[in-house]
Amino acid sequence: MDDYFPADYFAARAAFRARATDAELNAHAIGARGPNGETLSIDSAYLGSAAPRQLAIITGGIHGVEGYAGSALQQLWLAEFADSIPADTGVLLVHALNPYGFAHNRRVNENNVDLNRNALAAFPGPINSAYRSLDSWLNPPSPAPRFDDFIWRALPLLMRHGRAALAQAVAAGQYEFPQGLFYGGSRREASLEIFADLLSAPRFRNAQRVWHFDLHAGLGAYGRYQLLLDAPPTANEFTQWARGFGAQAVQSDHAAHATHYSAHGILPALTRRAFPAALTLAATLEFGTFGPATLLRILRAENRVHHHGAYNSSDAVRGRAALRDALAPHDSAWGAAVMAGGRKIFSQLRLLLAETRN
Ligand SMILES: [Zn+2]
Repeated sequence: MDDYFPADYFAARAAFRARATDAELNAHAIGARGPNGETLSIDSAYLGSAAPRQLAIITGGIHGVEGYAGSALQQLWLAEFADSIPADTGVLLVHALNPYGFAHNRRVNENNVDLNRNALAAFPGPINSAYRSLDSWLNPPSPAPRFDDFIWRALPLLMRHGRAALAQAVAAGQYEFPQGLFYGGSRREASLEIFADLLSAPRFRNAQRVWHFDLHAGLGAYGRYQLLLDAPPTANEFTQWARGFGAQAVQSDHAAHATHYSAHGILPALTRRAFPAALTLAATLEFGTFGPATLLRILRAENRVHHHGAYNSSDAVRGRAALRDALAPHDSAWGAAVMAGGRKIFSQLRLLLAETRN
């Protein structure tokens, strides 16, 4: 029963569709193509009330290659939780928000955009002046040398900025360097247009309470999960998450309290704007893999060879494989931990949905 982890994007999509046979299923085409010219889609499944008063949204794969875990968790929900939706409740699953990134084992989309920095209310995005001074370190304009200079060059930056400020400068998002890491784009990307359209469906007009879980892999301790909120710990939203899912699982990435860093244009902000009249409880659900320095080194190497090497060069193939191993480890213990965490979260969600229905 735990074999939900897909071999690739195409297997993930087929499994999602096969498990969602009781749902209203839609495939939303994306113009980008797969590694062998295949067509790609974002797939959505809706189950439950035709006019829900409460809605739960589970999105995955906004960071492409992180979609292995996202798809596995959505399949878990479909297999084990789909038959327990209370009256007046709807559940919307959105599979592979970044199908290009998932199919190619990249974190960004077909335009090198980090979609989880692209959900801004307006463009252009804010200037990240600290990133400017880091651009030449993060995004060297050349193919990878024989010996990677990442750590050599990181040490003085760490000493100058400190760890927290450096993480904030690197990962908050930037809107000036289209080939750089954490680039948030210059307009709303097609994936987020599709997601916004799904949320604007007339049937959701009377939703009063909206839960949104955006599934990710990478940040945090190996195999452990955390719910990251952009609300401060004093907010009502934070209290509600902590009550429902346990205080130890909930962290704030609000600017003044950031556990990791506070990012611009993350997906939960779009959901909150889509339901101005509802109580919207939107969080990033992260399943940890490796430490931030390891992840950044691998992201930097993959991005560098992507822009300055050939797609099928051995360096590029190795770079994408390393990124996949970093964000979807080939390790049954990690997979089992993700599934156990997912079961716990979805069980807690089931209780909350049953408790708060009218
Ligand atoms: Zn992510």
